[in-house]
Amino acid sequence: MSENIKVVVRCRPMNQMENESKCENIVEINEYAVSVINPLARHIPKKMFIFDSAYNMITNTDEIYNEMCYSLVESTIDGYNGTIFAYGQTGCGKTHTMQGDGNWSNSKNSGIIPKCFEHIFERISMATDVRFLAFVSYLEIYNENIRDLLNTNESTSMLNHSLKEIPGIGVSVPTLTTHSVINAKQCYDWLNLGNKNRVTAATLMNKKSSRSHTIFTITLEQSPFFTSIVAENDLGGIRRGKLSLVDLAGSERQLKTGARGERLKEASKINLSLSALGNVISSLVDGKSKHVPFRDSKLTRMLQDSLGGNTKTLMISCISPSNTNYDETISTLRYASRAKKI
Ligand code: ADP
Ligand code: MG
Repeated sequence: MSENIKVVVRCRPMNQMENESKCENIVEINEYAVSVINPLARHIPKKMFIFDSAYNMITNTDEIYNEMCYSLVESTIDGYNGTIFAYGQTGCGKTHTMQGDGNWSNSKNSGIIPKCFEHIFERISMATDVRFLAFVSYLEIYNENIRDLLNTNESTSMLNHSLKEIPGIGVSVPTLTTHSVINAKQCYDWLNLGNKNRVTAATLMNKKSSRSHTIFTITLEQSPFFTSIVAENDLGGIRRGKLSLVDLAGSERQLKTGARGERLKEASKINLSLSALGNVISSLVDGKSKHVPFRDSKLTRMLQDSLGGNTKTLMISCISPSNTNYDETISTLRYASRAKKI
């Protein structure tokens, strides 16, 4: 099982503010190991954590894609489900890693999501004996409510979309819009549209974007052109693979002084989804527990058919190098290593 669940860490460079205030780098990365110095107690040994891989501040997204995402995406093209998560404190590089700098060009630091688009359409354009259909959807989970980011109809995008379990297919949100796509550019246009819809709502709701989870989904359906070979995961001749690309809400503790009412409710719901995800992943990695607590949050229910079993999962945990973020960095590394159970 743990072969199918990989956890890596990515440390971003110091940002301008940290450089200007002469913050100190307390994170060391060495292949698989992340060591952190406690800036308030230098005499105690560094805390060390081991992962499937660890990436330092000069690693580009291309390298992470090739090492960790490539084979996962290949398997979704072959008809399996896969999930890539970005986890971590706000400002540590989740969106940078998943979406990149907004530059559509296939640069070394374009995001994992556009790299997936390129990869998928390059692969399926080479297929000669099968025919592919591709669909995208994009949603946001905020306060345990699902919002469709690709539905421009105000009155239905905010519907309280509910989840349905369809035997043999998995969990779906029947009211969510899905859009058929035939090339990477179309996928990218949908991603941008969803981001625009998200930003509009975010300015109305004060930094909401750091407190919501987004899931961009690409579903690939493959049917044979000439033959009628029945696939292992046969759905009446069609093989279906689903790739879920998830930018999680900031993992920082929300309950700093003074959170009340709506803010408090919101904070506990963010923590609920993130802790439910941690519980699901660690119970899958553990492999012994019969009950995997998918039902504990919207996020884990949404991803129920894309975590565990034959699916592949990658969690990219983003951290800051700065002494000023010591507590949050340790908490991110603990969460990530709990998912890895080493
Ligand atoms: P998050 O989504 O986790 O809140 P962002 O991805 O928005 O964080 O990153 C915050 C800022 O840091 C952005 O300006 C981003 O471009 C920059 N950044 C993050 N990670 C890196 C990295 N690995 N290399 C260069 N810049 C980065
Ligand atoms: Mg972000």
